[in-house]
Amino acid sequence: MYPFDPIESLANLRHEFGEHGGVNLSIEASSTFTVMKATTLPAIFQGQNSPEKGGCYLYGRHYNPTVYVLGKQLAALEGAQSAYCSASGMSAISATILQLTNAGEHVIANNAVYGGTFALLKDYLPLKTGLKVSFVDTSNLNAIESAITKQTKAIFVETMSNPTLSVANIPKLAEIAHSKGIKLVVDNTFSPLVVSPLQLGADIVVHSLTKFINGTSDIIAGAICGSTEFIASLMDLHTGSLMLLGPTMDPKVACEISLRLPHLALRMKEHSQRALIFANRLKEMGFSVIYPGLEEHPDHILLKNIGNPEFGFGGIFCLDLETSQKANQFIEYLQNKKRFGFMAVSLGYFETLMTCPSTTTSSEMSSEDLKKASISPGLVRISIGYTGSLEQRWQQLESAIYELKIAKSLYKKAI
Ligand code: PLP
Repeated sequence: MYPFDPIESLANLRHEFGEHGGVNLSIEASSTFTVMKATTLPAIFQGQNSPEKGGCYLYGRHYNPTVYVLGKQLAALEGAQSAYCSASGMSAISATILQLTNAGEHVIANNAVYGGTFALLKDYLPLKTGLKVSFVDTSNLNAIESAITKQTKAIFVETMSNPTLSVANIPKLAEIAHSKGIKLVVDNTFSPLVVSPLQLGADIVVHSLTKFINGTSDIIAGAICGSTEFIASLMDLHTGSLMLLGPTMDPKVACEISLRLPHLALRMKEHSQRALIFANRLKEMGFSVIYPGLEEHPDHILLKNIGNPEFGFGGIFCLDLETSQKANQFIEYLQNKKRFGFMAVSLGYFETLMTCPSTTTSSEMSSEDLKKASISPGLVRISIGYTGSLEQRWQQLESAIYELKIAKSLYKKAI
């Protein structure tokens, strides 16, 4: 544990009152901004006088006041100097990688990352920019050291890998990265509040706000948190990936997400608490459960050491049902017969979401890549919701298991 408290950090932020004294921040709906002197605009174009330097707003693809405030709130949540938001998690990731690397340079990424990120790093960027990417098991620190070349600019990991839930050893990775002048980029989408990667040595945190942070599966959005210098570089009018590629967040969206941040802590605690109880009960029934909250998970102690204890071990666990046929049958039954949750990609929703990653969110990976990342065909990823009572939901899950006779031993138990 470490002294940083993300909730206190957010609460310490100066309150941004609405334009007329409203308790919520105002939505600044302007795409362009006026100034009193004609010379102010050229000054902003030259990198002076922009909002992060206490100056003026220029144009909505540059900084927007509402999006800027949400960025400050996310920076507080992660303990970053600065942050800015974008239109999706993928745009946050691609803008970050493009900002850190030039044509032909090199990035090291974990074997298991979200399928979209995998496709971006494995196929898209190498094709478009000549980026070189080595996928390694980042829990093997020797493998990382041997993958580093003179051209390596970044190590990219997810705090908890999607979908295999291996936990990144952020302090160790930061040590290795920094000893070679490399930036450590951490996707903290699965574990907001649960882990604070920047406090552990990461240089940049990216988020898909689409998931836990927004929490209502109605918005696609992303964020990048890091040093003021790095965030300003993304907005540079001549060389900034956010400014030039333009994945701009709508200020109305920024306001909505901002209104959901105050209860993120309550939601994360409940997601984590239910995930831990379900994971334990399923384990006792004989299932092969992957959840870093379980003592036998290989990264349990690591997560205990690097996590913020009051937020538990996260709201996602996986079950390995061996075959995709069994996995599909199980999630179909849980949705259509038991109303336990939805068969849908994504995560961090108030309802339970269930998916089979090998054929959906990780389908960008070849069967060899899936094997290397330990994503088995029968893996079911479950993002546990918090509607209904815990026991009601457990009863739905347990009765589905018995009725489907999923495992022989369970079938025996049931009769
Ligand atoms: N990072 C992770 C870990 C994800 O799971 C996802 C999407 O599932 C993304 C990034 C991409 O986010 P978005 O859909 O907001 O672009």
